[in-house]
Amino acid sequence: MIITQFRTSPDTARPTLRDAVTGLPSYVPGRRSAGTDIAALASNESHYEPLPAAAAAVAAAAGSMNRYPDAAAVELRERLASHLGVTAGEVAVGPGSVGVLQQIITGLCDAGDEVIFAWRSFEAYPILVELAGARPVRIPLDDAEGHDLDAMAAAVTERTKVILLCTPNNPTGVPISHDRVEAFLHAVRSDILVVIDEAYVEYAEAGSGPDSLELYREYPNVCILRTFSKAYGLAGLRVGYAVAAPAIAEGLRRTALPFSVSALAQKAAVASLDAGEEMEARVAVVKQERERMASQLAAQGWKLQPSQGNFLWIRADDELRARLVDAFDGAGILVRAYQDDGVRITVADAASNDRVLRLLEAHASLTIL
Ligand SMILES: *Cc1c(COP(=O)(O)O)cnc(C)c1O
Repeated sequence: MIITQFRTSPDTARPTLRDAVTGLPSYVPGRRSAGTDIAALASNESHYEPLPAAAAAVAAAAGSMNRYPDAAAVELRERLASHLGVTAGEVAVGPGSVGVLQQIITGLCDAGDEVIFAWRSFEAYPILVELAGARPVRIPLDDAEGHDLDAMAAAVTERTKVILLCTPNNPTGVPISHDRVEAFLHAVRSDILVVIDEAYVEYAEAGSGPDSLELYREYPNVCILRTFSKAYGLAGLRVGYAVAAPAIAEGLRRTALPFSVSALAQKAAVASLDAGEEMEARVAVVKQERERMASQLAAQGWKLQPSQGNFLWIRADDELRARLVDAFDGAGILVRAYQDDGVRITVADAASNDRVLRLLEAHASLTIL
């Protein structure tokens, strides 16, 4: 090789990040617990230990960690396909549904294309969109903390490539009804991919949200996004999936980082699907606790929208938010605070939930007036 360009020394130039990267809002993870009496209610994780079958599958697979995982995740995709009544060709997996969502956005959006989503919603959305060089279009939630689908449909332009619907919505817990999603799909162009992010679908009452698989069969521009991180309790292993038309799903598999879903995660996910009834029994307890908390908080004077997730949402101005965060911090309870918007609290075991109820009772009067 012949070097034809020489540095003039001393050279002060430095490598620079793309503007899209320096301008990124950083993802603020839920704070993590350190002590033993700390209640970790900031990340909507399952408070249960891993399902025994998942833990056993991980232990059995650990002996092969010198090997690469199955890059095509065939066993998991086939198991998901039979679970959902689709074909394995319609399933793509990734490192968490955030990983799959990154595959979706980078797979569909060129620089300057637009991605519409409700706001406030999942914090990863604007980050993934901007990282891809696409433009986030945030549509404010309606007065009932739900998606304003009319405004979202009205925001469509010729640059719109993807629309994200989060149901039940993180952080507000409000679902979008089947009929409203269907009317929306009827209204928007069929070349726009409509992603239905159902990270909390297992916690939703039947009928409160869309039957997304039925909508997918009717509207091939629907993409269903789900995760093993929440109800299945595998947040630490990183595995999620999408169901989409075969050509889209194939594209998502091609945009995936090779081997991004570990063998341990693949095995644990298969075992978790096999242990579906155990998972559902756990979810039923969380739903009961959610309703118990909601009715006690209503009795205390809090006016909350009913949540269909494993979390509760308190809309709060900055003053109330600051007071609540101080109080929760002081009580050793980690919750998620959102500037200008409010506080989200994960529903966990009864004892932790009681601590939350006692604390909020002392602050309930702040919301009256
Ligand atoms: C937690 C969450 C996810 C899932 O994240 P993973 O990457 O699967 O852990 C996706 N969407 C929403 C709205 C979430 O709250």
